[in-house]
Amino acid sequence: MTIFTPEEFDDHESVLFFHDKKSSLKAIIAVHDTTLGPALGGTRMWDYDHEDDAIEDVLRLSRGMTYKSSLAGLNLGGGKSVIIGNPREHKSEELFEAFGRAVHQLSGSYIAAEDVGTTVEDLEIARRSTPHISGISEGNAGNPSPATAWGVFNGLKAAAHYRLKKQDLHGMKVAVQGLGNVGFGLCKHLKEAGAELIVTDIHDDVVQRAVKELGATAVDANHIYAQDVDIFAPCALGAILNDDTIPALKAKVVAGAANNQLATAQHGINLMNRGILYAPDYAINAGGIIIISHEGPKFDRGAAMQQVAGIYDTSLNIFKRAERENVSTAEVADEIALERIENAKMQRAELALAG
Ligand code: NAD
Repeated sequence: MTIFTPEEFDDHESVLFFHDKKSSLKAIIAVHDTTLGPALGGTRMWDYDHEDDAIEDVLRLSRGMTYKSSLAGLNLGGGKSVIIGNPREHKSEELFEAFGRAVHQLSGSYIAAEDVGTTVEDLEIARRSTPHISGISEGNAGNPSPATAWGVFNGLKAAAHYRLKKQDLHGMKVAVQGLGNVGFGLCKHLKEAGAELIVTDIHDDVVQRAVKELGATAVDANHIYAQDVDIFAPCALGAILNDDTIPALKAKVVAGAANNQLATAQHGINLMNRGILYAPDYAINAGGIIIISHEGPKFDRGAAMQQVAGIYDTSLNIFKRAERENVSTAEVADEIALERIENAKMQRAELALAG
């Protein structure tokens, strides 16, 4: 097991490992970059097969948060945390209190929020041990997932307009992988817009709910990639755009909520070469972080959701620049995000010289 050498490490500022014997907490907090502000990123709870998988996941997710906040124009850095354990079996109040104590040790340079496997209620328990928790109910943004779903919907619409030349989503077929907090919310927006839903999840209860409430068609988890649809919306886990899945895709657009959808940067190019427009994940799933960035005494949900809808324009800019420069949309998103961080570093250096 190595920490500093894998590609995912990417100059992380810190990676911290926490263990609490009493509650069985095993957690990792990664802080990638704080140039633009404190590192804000969700807490994922997952039953990883190997500890190496947890490390790889937290590093990839943390780096992704740096790019996401930068591209969204927020004064926040990138960080993430993972708790190793089965979210349906291993949760307890003691565990999240211990996790809160771990977050507190970073003195605000990392701010936690909800993610896959954790809920607003879990984070509220962690909040007993530290103020450095966001996205909780206390008169603030609350659960960020509806904002994320709204942002993904807007990014997906931009991609459909750009690639499929459709002014609205009426009659479009969309395959949604993962019907959790964000995926189900996205399905509701798609249904309202008149889209036809093909869905899958590893948990049958949520699939049946989508079938019953939204008239969705359920398919087996392994069959979601090859569906004859216009759009594929990955809303479960990362690295699902890879050598096995990309050749199977029939969709002309990939636009979903899941973080780190591309297994490698090359897979972004593979999608482009197949004529599939990829809406970069962190560009269109920034709704949650945008609404959280509005938290404070003057929190205005309407203004926050309006900024989230701006993901439509951000996405169009990426698609246009990628076409102009003949590079993948993922590469363009990275370029824009890095430009802002480099500019901030330069300004800081100039100020230091002047002072
Ligand atoms: P969630 O845990 O509520 O939902 C994930 C769903 O995916 C679950 O229903 C799970 O059963 C399902 N799933 C897992 N593996 C699957 C598989 N192989 N095939 C089909 N379904 C599978 O999580 P969420 O909050 O909805 O987040 C979904 C994705 O969006 C994650 O990648 C997350 O990192 C990303 N994201 C979430 C937010 C947010 O605000 N919640 C913000 C940005 C990005």
